[in-house]
Order: sequence, then C-alpha cells, then structure tokens
Amino acid sequence: MQQLIEHWIRPEIRGLSAYQVADARGLIKLDAMENPYPWPAALKSEWAELLSQVPVNRYPDPQASALRPSLRAAMGLAPDMELLLGNGSDEIIQMLCLALAGPGRVVLSVDPGFVMYRMIASFCGMRYVGVPLKADDFSLDLQALLQALEQEQPALVFLAYPNNPTGNLFDQQALVEIIQAAPGLVVIDEAYAPFTDASFIGRLGEFDNLLVMRTLSKMGLAGLRFGLLAGPRVWLEQFDKVRLPYNINSLTQISVDFALRHLPLFEQQTRQIRRDREDLYRDLAAIDGLHPYPSDANFILTRTPEDRAAAIFESMKRQGVLVKKLDGSHPLLKDCLRLTVGTPEENQACLKALTAALA
Ligand SMILES: *Cc1c(COP(=O)(O)O)cnc(C)c1O
Repeated sequence: MQQLIEHWIRPEIRGLSAYQVADARGLIKLDAMENPYPWPAALKSEWAELLSQVPVNRYPDPQASALRPSLRAAMGLAPDMELLLGNGSDEIIQMLCLALAGPGRVVLSVDPGFVMYRMIASFCGMRYVGVPLKADDFSLDLQALLQALEQEQPALVFLAYPNNPTGNLFDQQALVEIIQAAPGLVVIDEAYAPFTDASFIGRLGEFDNLLVMRTLSKMGLAGLRFGLLAGPRVWLEQFDKVRLPYNINSLTQISVDFALRHLPLFEQQTRQIRRDREDLYRDLAAIDGLHPYPSDANFILTRTPEDRAAAIFESMKRQGVLVKKLDGSHPLLKDCLRLTVGTPEENQACLKALTAALA
C-alpha cells in the first residue's frame, strides 16, 4: 500500500502535515483568536427558535441572498462592488488558488504570515514564495517585496492587514505601492477588521487588481465558518465558478442573518476586547524578560527569554492556560508566544501563569 501511496499522492502533499489543532479540554483557550464572550440567554433561545424552523431536508439558498444586504451595510461596501461568500475565509483562499493555479503559477505573501496561504497554494499545485518581514518590528521590507514581484511575477499576493501572527498593521502607502507593482491580484486579508480602524474596503475600485477578504470568525462566529471576499463583479464572477454549490449551509445562513441583526452586541464585545488588549499589552510589557509587540488584532505576540519558549508554553498549559507556541515555526519567531485576548479574568489567569512560568 505504501508504494501505491508514494506513486499516486503528489510529493508536495506527502511532504505536508495536516493542520494541527491543540486539545483545549479543561483549559482557558487563548490559542485561536476566538471571541471569549457567550451570547445572553434570551438571545440564545430566540436563535434556537429560528434554527428549529430551518427546513434542513432542503438545500440552502445557493446565493445566501437574504444575508447580502445586511453584510454590505455592516461592511460599508460601495454599491458597485460585489460579494463572494465562503465556508470560512479559508475556503475563499482555496477558491482563489483553484481559479488561478497553473504550471509555474506563484502565490506570494510575507513570512511570518498566515499559514493557510502557503498550505492552500501547495494543495492547488502552486508555488509559494514568502518574503521575510523586517526582523526588528515585523514591518514590510518594501524593496525586497518589489524585487520579488518583479522576479516571481505572482498570480496572487496575500497580505493580512493586520498581520497574523505578528499583530501589526503594515504601512498603508507601502501596500499601495505593492498593489500598483503587482502583475496579478492582491488580496488584502482583513480577518482582524473588528479590532482596528484601518481598512482597504473604501479603496476597492481604485485599483484593477485589489480584492478585500473578511471573516466573521474573529468577531465571534468562528463556529459558523463564514468568510467573504469583496471586489469588482468581473473578478468575483470568475471565482464563483469554482465555488461548490451550497457552500454556505442553511444553519449558518440563518445564524449569520440573526447575528447581523444583533450587530451592536458584537460591536460591544469587540470594543471591550480592544480595551483589554491595551491592558494586557501594558501588563506584559511590565514583566521582566518579556518583549510584547504592539497589536491591532485580538492577540498579542510576545518574545520570551532565550530558549525558554517551549518550557514556558508547557508550564502555562499545566497551569490551565493554552496559548500558541510560535517558536520553531519561523526563524523570526524564535522564543515567541501568541496570546489571544480573552475576558479580563482569562487575561489575569494568563498573566499569572506566564509570571509563574518565568520565575
Ligand atoms: C483566522 C484567519 C483567517 C481564517 O479565517 P476563517 O474565516 O475562520 O477561515 C484568515 N486570515 C487570517 C489572517 C486569519 O488570521
């Protein structure tokens, strides 16, 4: 059987490991940028009532038409821009790669960056090029990027704004220069839009090759799997051809519609998370041996004392707090941990476990 596998499974797939998700049972979960706040009980019962009426014996609305007006309003999307919906923004990355893949075609991003750009490029048989960020502050190395655009002629460029796992916002003018210099599409990935004031949504239409991607995951609906791509119709109608029919299931459609009618609740929660991010940053910066990086997202990347990240991560876990160990995933992330901003109580528990682990 091994021979058959080696013969038929493509080498780049055999070389991958499946996306790993840590077991968080019994732990304070600060590893995956989830919103920590549950819904009020009254809202939950109203939602359950709606769900009970969904005809699950029928296929969902293939276009999720009922959602579109409220999504457009929530994003402030211009009337001449179109929306493509995905089962999480991961599925949108996949649709983009499927439509653009071909012999020699390149996906370009920055490293350290969001791991799914590299993985999905590989799934689709595209070559991934990662241009290193600057070592001191994770800002863009514009010269290196412009040179890579010239040399690699990428079909697709992904840039997360703010970036994951570093949390910083790239310089807006540098991004504009990249959009103007790129021979193919540039997708600005605004997964962390709820936690920053910066956005390229308002600049759609200004460039022929600009698209903006968002998700509801980080805002508080990670379990629903719902992402979206915004941009000119002429591009999105091409990607719509590789979208699997009914990719947004009926329960997600009704739940997103319901959540959008209660948007102020999510806005209140994300405002709270932004305030708590500033408290957490200040508290981390005050701990001897830590070097946290400023963040515009709902997590903070911090450097820990040399060669101790793995031990600190394990110690925190034993104390009941799960964070993300990034040390070992990229040379620029040596000694780094990523902490999701939780509730004030969770953040206190995180700080306490971190302090004890450092002692
Ligand atoms: C979390 C994340 C996503 C994926 O979001 P889903 O909609 O949950 O698939 C996309 N891009 C970045 C930068 C992220 O951090």
